[in-house]
Amino acid sequence: MSTVAENLAAVRKRIAEAELKYQRRPGEVQLIAVSKTKPAEALLEARDAGQRLFGENYLQEALDKQVIINRDDIEWHFIGPIQSNKTRQIAESFAWVHGVDREKIARRLSEQRPAELSPLNICLQVNVSNEESKSGVSLDDLPALLANVIVLPGLRVRGLMAIPQRAENVDQQRAAFATLAEALQMLNQQYQIQMDTLSMGMSGDLEAAIAEGATMVRVGTDIFGAR
Ligand SMILES: *Cc1c(COP(=O)(O)O)cnc(C)c1O
Repeated sequence: MSTVAENLAAVRKRIAEAELKYQRRPGEVQLIAVSKTKPAEALLEARDAGQRLFGENYLQEALDKQVIINRDDIEWHFIGPIQSNKTRQIAESFAWVHGVDREKIARRLSEQRPAELSPLNICLQVNVSNEESKSGVSLDDLPALLANVIVLPGLRVRGLMAIPQRAENVDQQRAAFATLAEALQMLNQQYQIQMDTLSMGMSGDLEAAIAEGATMVRVGTDIFGAR
């Protein structure tokens, strides 16, 4: 079985090759190591191999790991669904939140972001595949949500995030990611803003996401093994 360090090196290589292949700037795509359900030891192994961005889905589990891995050089990203009774601790303990899809949640995160910290970086999660059961705002409702969230002082809206439906092939994967990239461009023009983040691509489709402009890929399985 390969080690976390070896897996990480392989994922970094895939990212670098995709950047090259799709004419992206070398090093432009950031890697978030998604460590949900994995023990703190696995995160430490990744950190020792140079990994600095970690994505967690479950608040209590993440807080427990943050106690063990109490280091200033780690950047914590909350990527799971957000319940409104958890917003205070999320606002206090993370640098980024990727799954914001409701104004109410955004308002709470903004109000509860401690004043001594810089504004919380957020991505609005978009349901690009229009799945009934999926979280994420619809493309239709996205402009209104953005307009309401962009004025909140405790937040810095960095961009968009999506988890597209599992696709049959690379072309289908790319189509969903292209939809998100177009939405970002359109909103930047419409609101005269400069959102700079497309959080898209996971273990199985990071190349397709990078082809369409991902700036952050969120990779779990291919770094830490199956969950
Ligand atoms: C679990 C998870 C990932 C990582 O998925 P893998 O397929 O294991 O790479 C990425 N993003 C989100 C939001 C997740 O919940």
